Amino acid sequence: MIKLTEVCKTYHSGKLHVPVLQSINFHVNQGEYVAIMGPSGSGKSTLMNIIGCLDRPTSGSYQINGKEVSQMEDLELARVRNRMIGFIFQQFQLLPRLSAQKNVELPLVYAGISKSKRSIQAVEALRKVGLADRKSHRPKELSGGQQQRVAIARALVNDPHVLLADEPTGALDTKSGQVILELFDELHQEGRTVVMITHDPEVAKRAQRQIIIRDGEIIEDSMPSHGIGRRSL
Ligand code: ADP
Ligand code: MG
Repeated sequence: MIKLTEVCKTYHSGKLHVPVLQSINFHVNQGEYVAIMGPSGSGKSTLMNIIGCLDRPTSGSYQINGKEVSQMEDLELARVRNRMIGFIFQQFQLLPRLSAQKNVELPLVYAGISKSKRSIQAVEALRKVGLADRKSHRPKELSGGQQQRVAIARALVNDPHVLLADEPTGALDTKSGQVILELFDELHQEGRTVVMITHDPEVAKRAQRQIIIRDGEIIEDSMPSHGIGRRSL
């Protein structure tokens, strides 16, 4: 499903070259639930941007569903991103002026789906997260946990290959965070592929597999047969 081989990322600003990821190797199979952990500044978001086709590696190979994406032009990369990735962010990233349903419909608008089909699929996705009765509410009329559930419905509505979540419970209280984590458990049990980025070991425990990065390198992978193996510090 996801395969990174010798992925390196260096940011250039003026004469400065900042190496952020160094030789990242791992793959994720369909249906896996993986947590990527690491301290602040270790390169988690950089890695998420690459996995989510928002950015390309400086060198190395990244394949998603057998397709090499590391050399793609922006437009083609965007197409792959829209078709294959469902994003969930810490701050929900809902559009404040749109209803829950219209927010969920957005990926379908980009995909050129007709209005009537969009509406059916969006309501179905909202039902899945238990919020069909809130479809006309705007984000500010919903609690944080509900907003994140709308964001999950939006991520699911396109039936993406991978759900990619960056600190999805980071902005929530413990109780609403639990509801979100239970929803991820459910999605995993249905066979969805989930990659979650978190710095919270309690959250990471929910996943089947934990990958720890530090200073841009994988220092531990709890499922050695899938990657480069468990390495200790
Ligand atoms: P994390 O998400 O684990 O906190 P990031 O991937 O955001 O880590 O950042 C890793 C390192 O890369 C940090 O030192 C950060 O300052 C640097 N960095 C991130 N984005 C850029 C950028 N666009 N240009 C230059 N340096 C960056
Ligand atoms: Mg980050």
